[in-house]
Amino acid sequence: MTVTPAQLRALANRAEALAAEVRALCAHPSPVTTPDAGASPGADPLAAARQAADWLARSTDDLRRAATELARLQVEPCGLAWAVCPEHGNTLSSMAGVSKCRVCGWSRSTPRPGQPCGAPVTWKVIDRSGGETRMCDGHVLGARAVSQGATFIRIDQALT
Ligand SMILES: [Zn+2]
Ligand SMILES: [Zn+2]
Repeated sequence: MTVTPAQLRALANRAEALAAEVRALCAHPSPVTTPDAGASPGADPLAAARQAADWLARSTDDLRRAATELARLQVEPCGLAWAVCPEHGNTLSSMAGVSKCRVCGWSRSTPRPGQPCGAPVTWKVIDRSGGETRMCDGHVLGARAVSQGATFIRIDQALT
């Protein structure tokens, strides 16, 4: 079974809701019907429940932290090797070892042939023959310009 950040976040939301529910319930003082039942005067019969709410709230934070950590690790680097502008795609002109975007002027040293892009993968592109390539924002722009009949699917990595 693969754990996803979304599952951890869903659990965190439930823990948070539960903590809020316990707190709301314990906000009303409970009527003490048996004053001589052995409890010392002033003892709060709900102290343990309030503490449980605190633990739940802390668990919420821990679950969210785990979700963020997992999302960070699950980011897949783009493996395409041709150089692109991260914002404009296939708009680079290469001259004297420097690739420069014709649209925004963004430049970088031209990568060695075969050197993968490494930007986070955000798209899945399925070509007409059913082949699947995963790529970053910059590469998907370049790919859109040249691939006809391909399907572009945004990979949902939204940190909600
Ligand atoms: Zn650009
Ligand atoms: Zn890329």
